[in-house]
Order: sequence, then C-alpha cells, then structure tokens
Amino acid sequence: MHVTMIKKRLENGEPCQKCVQAEELLRRRGLWERIDEVVVADVRDPSSPGYLLASQHGIDLAPFFIVKRGEQSVVYTSVLKLIGEVLSPKPVEAAAGVPDAATLAAELSGRRPEEIVARALELFGSELAIAFSGAEDVVLIDMAVKTGKPFSVFTLDTGRLASETYEFIERVRKHYGVPIHAAFPQAPAVQALVVKKGLFSFYEDGHGECCGIRKVEPLRRTLASYRAWMTGQRRDQSPTRSNVSLVESDPGMAGPSGSLLKWNPLAFTTLGEVWQYIRDHGVPYNPLHERGFVSIGCAPCTRAIRPGEHERAGRWWWEEATKRECGLHSELNQR
Ligand code: SF4
Repeated sequence: MHVTMIKKRLENGEPCQKCVQAEELLRRRGLWERIDEVVVADVRDPSSPGYLLASQHGIDLAPFFIVKRGEQSVVYTSVLKLIGEVLSPKPVEAAAGVPDAATLAAELSGRRPEEIVARALELFGSELAIAFSGAEDVVLIDMAVKTGKPFSVFTLDTGRLASETYEFIERVRKHYGVPIHAAFPQAPAVQALVVKKGLFSFYEDGHGECCGIRKVEPLRRTLASYRAWMTGQRRDQSPTRSNVSLVESDPGMAGPSGSLLKWNPLAFTTLGEVWQYIRDHGVPYNPLHERGFVSIGCAPCTRAIRPGEHERAGRWWWEEATKRECGLHSELNQR
C-alpha cells in the first residue's frame, strides 16, 4: 500500500489551512509516518505535480489522499475517513493492560523525570498530550523529544497571552519541530462575557468565570480526544499543589475511554532543578522570566514578583493564595 497526500499551496506561498490541520491530526494520532509521499498542488502553477494528480482524479479540493494497492487507486477527500478506513491507529503499547495510577506512581517513585516521561510515552505515545504553557512544560517537551517516541502537545490560547508568550510558543515549535495544537475558547461564550461584564471582570468578581470560558472549557474539549495528559506541576509551586502525585487518575477530565491518566513527572522537582535543566540543555524559555516573571499566565493576570515573594505570588495577586488556580487542576489538587 502506498499513501499520497496532496496539499495545496496558496497564491501567497502559504499552505492551505485545511491541509495544515489534516497533517496535525495525523501527527497527533501517530499516523503521519503512514503517509508515504506528500505532493504539492501549487495554485500558481497548473503544471505542479499535485495539480496534475487533482485533474487526473477529478478532484477540486484539498487536501486529498490517493491510496494505491497494486494497480488499484482509491481517492479520499476526508482525512477522518482515511484514518477510519485505511490507517488503523497504531496500537498503543499495553493498551489493554495499562496499570492503574497508584501502581504506576509506586513503580515510578524516586525515578528521574526523564524516566517517568519515557514510561508515559511507552504506554500512550501520541495519545498522551503535554499541556504546554510554562518553563516546566518545555522541559517535559525536551525530555519527550529525546525519547524518540511519538507524543502530542497542546497549548491554551486564551486570547489574553502576552506577546512574548506567543513568540515563545512559536520558538518552541520551531526549536523542536513539533506541532503545537492551540486550543481556543468558544467565541460566543467569550463575546457574551465581554458584552455583559467587559474585558476585566476578573479584577472585580474573581477569575473563575473568565478562566472557565477561556481555559477550562477548551481544555476539556481538547482532552476529550486523548487518553492521558502530562503537566509540569510541582508540589512546591503553591499550597494548592502540595498533593500532586507523579501519576493520578484525573476524574475532572474525560477522554474517549473515561477519566484520563494525568502525569506530573516534575511533582518532586524544585524550581531550581527546573532551571538547572533549562540551562544544561539549552531549553527555550519565555523572555519574561528575565524581567521578574516566574509563573506566567495571561497578561492581565500575571505580574513580576518582588524579591522574597513566592513564585505564584504574581498570579491573580488580588485574590487569596488558596484560590489561585485556574480550574485546570483544582479538582485533584485542592483536595
Ligand atoms: S488568567 Fe485572567 S485573562 Fe486568563 S482566562 Fe483567567 S481570568 Fe481570564
């Protein structure tokens, strides 16, 4: 069998958005290596190989896929149909026999974060998503890349991030050559909040509502297609994280097969050890860290900290320390 993907290149030389999304989906599912050949249909050049294939098969949209078996060719214009009918997902190692969270946490107790990351990817591969926003998360991406195993990465684009953070996300994407899935909030929910309460309601009635719309809902939607996720949470980050385990069953988030397994390989790592790893391995970091920012979230809800302040003192500083979680982790860690 030979699978060819035909991608469109637009007038401005950029790839078409649908083609980019299809590739990202295939990568997330660990199926990209099943595509044997990629051919470009350049709209500026009707004699480009992809254009010739499109006219040969009577196709006028992109992307499309040609699956050849011997002399027979079948064309697919839907990547989901291609996945369902042709590219059966790679079996996740030990899919049927993944140990439970407590067993894994006991097995991995005292092990180095690198070993924990490797074990997680051995079990879940690209069905595990690393939640990326801060310095710890890039350390995890660095460790994951070094395992050589497939994995997925996503980030929550709340629409309120600092420009330095957007540049940082892009730098990480290019540095590691990994697709980063951006999860956006639902536009109608954001519009309704802003119309009703304005752009800064969180300073008046707390961050819960805005975080719920811009972070928690997109996170739930994103995780619905994964079986496990990984965070850079550390126990010493805040009072709300003092119970974080290396591996937890996350009842707050549901994937296709029920609650997700949540991996926190840095649970017992200190901030100093995180930065030692960043320096030793040349890991990219957000330039805001050089201006006194330690824990970095949305621009209006993050400030630099003063000497002697706790690292999360710059997040939602107008609220009590015990309430400074955005809801992404609270169900587990505030117990
Ligand atoms: S951190 Fe602030 S701006 Fe970002 S989602 Fe939460 S309340 Fe809204």
